[in-house]
Amino acid sequence: IAKGSAVDETDMRADLEKVLIPEEELQRKIRELAAQIDADYAGREILLVGVLKGAVMVMADLARALHAPISMDWMAVSSYGSGTQSSGVVRILKDLDADIMDRHVLIVEDIIDSGLTLHWLMSNLESRGPASLAVCALLRKPDAAKIEVDVKYVGFDIPNEFVIGYGLDYAERYRNLPFVGTLAPHVYGGSGEQEG
Ligand code: 5GP
Ligand code: MG
Ligand code: MG
Repeated sequence: IAKGSAVDETDMRADLEKVLIPEEELQRKIRELAAQIDADYAGREILLVGVLKGAVMVMADLARALHAPISMDWMAVSSYGSGTQSSGVVRILKDLDADIMDRHVLIVEDIIDSGLTLHWLMSNLESRGPASLAVCALLRKPDAAKIEVDVKYVGFDIPNEFVIGYGLDYAERYRNLPFVGTLAPHVYGGSGEQEG
């Protein structure tokens, strides 16, 4: 990664191992997903449900690429697990503001790893009686799947590596990188409960 001069000591890009998906590729894919979603929903109003915090970037860019009328709502969930593993035991940290009964709900996710969080979220939202429920996830790790989840819109299938950037964090950092990448081994340390 090319470094600037003034900020070398603190530049988070110095922590990177590699760029997996460059910014232009992410943006192109989001426009493709938006076109597909627009075609499928054919002008019906969509309630985009972003899962905090990781989905913030994809939500912002996807929403601006859509022509369909949309509203946005947000949920925050936390999955207990050891280290970077999700367990499927999910706790709601912030629930939706909206009543989703009879609405067309599209869950917007940053990444599907084990699929356990999304599986739980889908059955939770399904029980609230939406007119339809679908998922758009920017990234998916097929080799990490522990449960099958029906994800209608997927940006990229990626290898089973821990990634950061474009909303995804490590210890709350790196979310503002405009691309998706992996971290150099020297960066890694602690563990615990993880929050989207
Ligand atoms: P899952 O329940 O599918 O295993 O994943 C739950 C959450 O863990 C994801 O929504 C995401 O917030 C986080 N996660 C899973 N894989 C990664 C990864 O490679 N990088 C980062 N930063 N977070 C991840
Ligand atoms: Mg996280
Ligand atoms: Mg997430």
